[in-house]
Amino acid sequence: MVAETEYYDLIGVSPNADESEIKKAYRKKALKAHPDKGGDPEHFKELTHAYEVLSDSNKRQVYDQAGKAGLEGGGGMGGGMDPQDLFSQLFGGGGGFFGGGGGSRNAGPRRGKDLVHRISVTLEDLYKGKVQKLALSKSVICKSCEGRGGKKGAVSTCTGCQGRGVKVMLRQLGPMMQQIQQPCGECEGTGEMMNPKDRCKNCVGKKTISERKVLEVHIDKGMKSGQQIKFQGESDQAPGIIPGDVVIVIEEKPHQRFQRKGDDLYCEAEIDLLTALGGGEFAIEHLDERALHVTIVPGEIIKPGVLKVISGQGMPSYRHHELGDLYVKLNVAFPESIPVNVIPDLEKALPKRRDVQKFGKKVHLDEVTLEEPNDRQRRSAASDGDDMDEDEEHGGPGVQCAQQ
Ligand SMILES: [Zn+2]
Ligand SMILES: [Zn+2]
Repeated sequence: MVAETEYYDLIGVSPNADESEIKKAYRKKALKAHPDKGGDPEHFKELTHAYEVLSDSNKRQVYDQAGKAGLEGGGGMGGGMDPQDLFSQLFGGGGGFFGGGGGSRNAGPRRGKDLVHRISVTLEDLYKGKVQKLALSKSVICKSCEGRGGKKGAVSTCTGCQGRGVKVMLRQLGPMMQQIQQPCGECEGTGEMMNPKDRCKNCVGKKTISERKVLEVHIDKGMKSGQQIKFQGESDQAPGIIPGDVVIVIEEKPHQRFQRKGDDLYCEAEIDLLTALGGGEFAIEHLDERALHVTIVPGEIIKPGVLKVISGQGMPSYRHHELGDLYVKLNVAFPESIPVNVIPDLEKALPKRRDVQKFGKKVHLDEVTLEEPNDRQRRSAASDGDDMDEDEEHGGPGVQCAQQ
């Protein structure tokens, strides 16, 4: 006779069932009840817990004799194993069993984390391409012990946690008993025990050692911010896992003279007034060792702020290295003053002055002078108008004067 049959009923076997019958019955039920298949997670948990107990001959014996209460009294014998873990153990990977869907647990060894590293790259380097060395320290499997942490056969499963690395504790919380998981203190959460004298001296039993590794990052011409360069399997090694990748993410540093939009470049250049009016030349320092020599043909007038383009002088595109264009905004540096005696020459060369606007006959022409705004007036003119209190009636000096 058994004390209670709840767990047997859950799995759907008789209390006389042997191990393989229990396993078979559980498999069948668990497949249907798995949350990935739309099953109720709580039910699945109970079912799995029942199996966990009945599949362990010690626990089953306790259960048969004293029921659930007996298991709880056993101290740390109660469930608490992740049902998904047990499921995975039984079917060789929970996710994998259902065709790789849902869940991070897949069949086969676990994959380690990727190491993501951002590097700032100058626009010059993205223009020309560069090989950048990047030193990083990573964990590698200890060669002396081949990742065992000690002598062959010296490692045994921790008896404190049965190799799980965690212990399930029961804690009284008011009228309830609460199960809490804690890392196993005896094995420091590793699930393994070793006699200290068998420990590998090279890695002090840690199985891995830290090693400096220099990666050569090939920054290809035309790469952009956010682009990734992957070093497969170069991340931290650990026993039983496939190392993740080292992922280098390109970050373009802002440039003083150039702005980049896709494969095009934008810059500004300043020319003097004479060049703007009468032609001449200027140069733009490029991102490589060159400077672009630009000629402004006499006869064309360059207006302040005009946008011009130099074809094929932008960034190379990634992979194909086709060149984008270089847009140049031309600013004109005006002289502060001009000798009065040359003005007649200007009058000869330039279009005639415009007539003073008449605004119809009713307007009386009031004689005024243009002054340099003082500091307060400059601030006032530069503000967006919110704090125009006493100046409001006069109107901002910069506003009306703009009209001729
Ligand atoms: Zn070692
Ligand atoms: Zn342990």
